[in-house]
Order: sequence, then structure tokens, then C-alpha cells
Amino acid sequence: MLGQNFLVDRNVVNRIIDLVAPRSGDHILEIGPGQGAMTRELVSSGASVVAVELDRRLAPLLAKEFASHNNFAVVEADILDTDLQQLLGSRSTAPWKVAANLPYNISSQVLLKFLETPRLFSHLILMLQKEVGDRLAAPPACKEYGILTLFCRLHFDVTREFVVKPGAFHPVPKVDSVVLSFRPLAAPRADVGDERLFRQVVKASFSQRRKTLWNCLRSADLVADSERLAAILSTAGIDGGRRGETLTLDEFALLTRTLLAERHSAGK
Ligand code: SAM
Repeated sequence: MLGQNFLVDRNVVNRIIDLVAPRSGDHILEIGPGQGAMTRELVSSGASVVAVELDRRLAPLLAKEFASHNNFAVVEADILDTDLQQLLGSRSTAPWKVAANLPYNISSQVLLKFLETPRLFSHLILMLQKEVGDRLAAPPACKEYGILTLFCRLHFDVTREFVVKPGAFHPVPKVDSVVLSFRPLAAPRADVGDERLFRQVVKASFSQRRKTLWNCLRSADLVADSERLAAILSTAGIDGGRRGETLTLDEFALLTRTLLAERHSAGK
């Protein structure tokens, strides 16, 4: 599934390009350039553009169209299998901008990929399915608030820019889209102690949304027994009767650090 809904509304293309604000000297990664609606504007700005396109019919067409521009390169590859550090870092050590109208089916996986190397980027302008985009900007306790919200909040300032209606694309998708800006923070927003463990704690806490934090964490096998879990929650000052979705990023960070400290002391 290539998720090919091409942008045909010039006004939307221009609004996205205004947000990217491409200029000579910029290094820009475009994911899924498709038929080049955004690529043309990016390349004509003088910025160095690297485009990763999976469709083996489209990639050569783009290479041909921009053959006379030495500030453009197209890589025929699956973005999910691409080592971004290697692809981008080998071309420029300066932070990269990203512009993408992402295929709906892989947008969450692409975000997780950006989260592996958030400081490789200076600014990401991404169009996503509105439902996914709304989750990223959601506050705690609302139904859109979830795992990806917390992972992104740890490393990015996320701004919801504007909604795009299905008529802006061809073929016309069934759902609305939204354009979001992501600005990597200089350092993570919260001290989570160990990011891998933080992710496990968050995933466990959201594993059964109707259940309490206590029940979710008990069934996740993160803590040896009920007594230790009770001690961890008490030390962190977090009520196990709450639902995971009511915890803020700072509370998840505190819970992770407390769990980590308990593991260290138990290991002594
Ligand atoms: N940027 C173009 C536009 O706005 O008109 C096309 C956007 S279209 C929603 C998504 C593009 O991503 C398509 O060109 C599709 O072939 C490409 N694509 C799909 N899956 C991909 C993947 N895993 N890696 C790289 N490109 C992919």
C-alpha cells in the first residue's frame, strides 16, 4: 500500500511551503515526493533536497525532471528501512528540515522513526491523517491522548497548523488531514531516567484503557510483585486507582525514575 493521494490544491501546497520556508543553504528531506507537487517549490528555492520515494515508477520520473538541478537527489527506498543518520548525516551535519505529506498507513511508524534521532532535525512539517494528528496535540485525559502523544511531547514542540479537506487531493481520500509542525527540543522535556523503560511504562499504562494504572502495571510484568508496585506508586505519589491516560508526561517520568531506582536498590 503506497497511500498515494497527491496534492492538487496549489493553495495547500503554498501554505505548506510557507511553513517549511525553504531557502538556499537549507537541507531538506522530503518523504514521498510522489508527482513532485511540493518538490518543485523546494528545489526552486535553492535548498538541497533529498527525496525518498518508494514507488519505483515515480522515482525515475523525478530524477529525470530535476536532472539539471544539482541540489536535488531522489533515493528509491522505503523510508521505514532507511537509516536516516547515515543518509542525511553523510550529506550534511547541519540539522535537516523535513517536509512530507505522509502516506496514512505508515505515519505513526515514521514518527517513531524520527523519535530515534530527534536532534538530527531542525523543523518537521508533516501532513497526517487528522485523527492521528489530533492525538499528537492532545492534552491528558482526553480520548485522543495516547502513547504517541507522550513520546512526541518528550522530544518535540508540536503545533497544529491547519486542516486539509479531502478535495485537496487526487484521488480524494475518505478522511480529513492536518498539517503539524514539530520542533525538536534542545533536550528532552522531562528526565525519564531510561527512555526504553519510559516507553515500556507508558505502553503498559495504556494497554487497557478501561483499567486502572495499578491493574495495567500489575499485568505488564514490569514489577516483581504487588508490594513493590504499591511502594513505587506511593514513593512517586501517584494513585494506582487512576487511569493511565490521566497521567501527565512529568508523572510518567517520575514513575519511570522511581521504578528504575527500585530496580537498582533491589539489584543491590
Ligand atoms: N508528496 C506528494 C504530494 O503531496 O502530492 C505525494 C504524497 S502521497 C500521500 C505519499 C507518497 O509517499 C507517495 O508518493 C507514495 O508513493 C510514497 N510512499 C508510500 N510509502 C512510502 C514509503 N514507505 N517510503 C517512501 N515513500 C513512500
